[in-house]
Amino acid sequence: MIAQGGRVASFSPHDELNVYASAEARFEVAAKKLGLDDGVYRFMRYPDKEITVYIPVTLDSGQLEVFIGYRVHHSLVRGPCKGGIRFAPDVTLDEVRALASEMTWKCAVVNIPFGGAKGGVICDPTKLSRGELERITRRYTAELSEWFGPERDVPAPDLGTNEQIMAWIMDTYSMHVRRTTTAVVTGKPIQMGGSQGRREATGRGLMIACEKALAKFGLKRDLTRVIVQGFGNVGSVAATLMHQAGYRIVGVADIHGGLYNEKGFDIPKLVNWVYQQHQPLPDFPDGGERMTAQEVLFQPADIVIPAAIENQITRDNVERLQTRILCEGANGPSTAYADEELDRKGIFVIPDILANAGGVTVSYFEWVQDRQGFFWRENVVNDRLKDILERSFDDVVGYAETHGVNNRTAAYMLAIDRVAFVLKLRGIYA
Ligand code: NAD
Repeated sequence: MIAQGGRVASFSPHDELNVYASAEARFEVAAKKLGLDDGVYRFMRYPDKEITVYIPVTLDSGQLEVFIGYRVHHSLVRGPCKGGIRFAPDVTLDEVRALASEMTWKCAVVNIPFGGAKGGVICDPTKLSRGELERITRRYTAELSEWFGPERDVPAPDLGTNEQIMAWIMDTYSMHVRRTTTAVVTGKPIQMGGSQGRREATGRGLMIACEKALAKFGLKRDLTRVIVQGFGNVGSVAATLMHQAGYRIVGVADIHGGLYNEKGFDIPKLVNWVYQQHQPLPDFPDGGERMTAQEVLFQPADIVIPAAIENQITRDNVERLQTRILCEGANGPSTAYADEELDRKGIFVIPDILANAGGVTVSYFEWVQDRQGFFWRENVVNDRLKDILERSFDDVVGYAETHGVNNRTAAYMLAIDRVAFVLKLRGIYA
């Protein structure tokens, strides 16, 4: 996908589901509107560095297997690189590259001092033992010990990775540099330098963004119907907090399928069903109408929150959305091809790089606390998160209104402008 220089004006329809192409198309639109200088444009559209690592691991069976892993640094302009690591069978370098650039823009939208990175290992964590996962993680970290560091690149959890994996990364890195370095990774267990409120931060951030949208449109929580696709860390927390706050959660879905119930779900009961009783979400006894996980997005609602995977809303189905607000919890849940129709339908989009930035914001708080060696109470974390996200929401929506663009383009323009500003101040070392 990467051209050898100059501008690539458009991308082919075959690329609709290529997240890198979608990210690039959105960058293009914003860069063009900003009238970005050609050199700065070229600098920003390419990653800083990419690496592929081949990870030899002895499986429990005694067999030696080699896993493929990636790490991409997109930008170090505004600070160390920040970005998750995903363990999934379908990880590709294109995807990791796209997500790394999105992290640069996300950190800039919420104005925290990081650039973007992302990593991944091609593996299926559900088919690996704890020991195998630990060995993959440690060897991946060892291979990247010169890339990682509190002032260089600070990984975090993403799909298929969790607090335990972050703990192993922290330990492996610390062994290599011969000192305990908690700030090398975020999303760690609280007992070893993690932050209060980090686990809930992305879901909480989605609610904060929705609250701002509600206030803007003069809507009331108890009359607001919400659909949440994905019931993992992001979706289940958003659904729980919004249910507690008085919203009506009328649609839910996970990988097993979806449910829709106009009357609303008892979310604590559903959380118990999925997480304590380990039952498939669509078998929830107090559930409503069963449908596929994707179909649930197109049921009547005031807010739709896709919080599962990418490419759920495409040019083929976008016109079926029946919502006023689309709050993107997942990364890249709608394709660039769907953007025009979202505009035409007048749907108020809270784009992923703003809506789901709660996670990276509290990751930033975790990094700050680790470096200070002084830890904040949960209410302090939540108040500071609210402050940053509310301000960022106002920045993006204000920018959209002033410049006559949609919220997504505004978020990208604001972010690119912030990175370009610092790039000009720093200059190019050459
Ligand atoms: P998770 O693994 O905890 O949960 C994913 C959920 O999506 C699960 O309920 C799973 O069953 C469901 N799911 C998977 N495939 C699906 C499909 N095809 N259809 C419907 N549902 C499906 O992951 P998460 O941490 O909740 O992340 C969800 C999304 O949010 C990802 O796109 C991730 O990149 C993004 N995100 C996460 C964070 C974070 O802090 N965890 C921050 C920013 C963005």
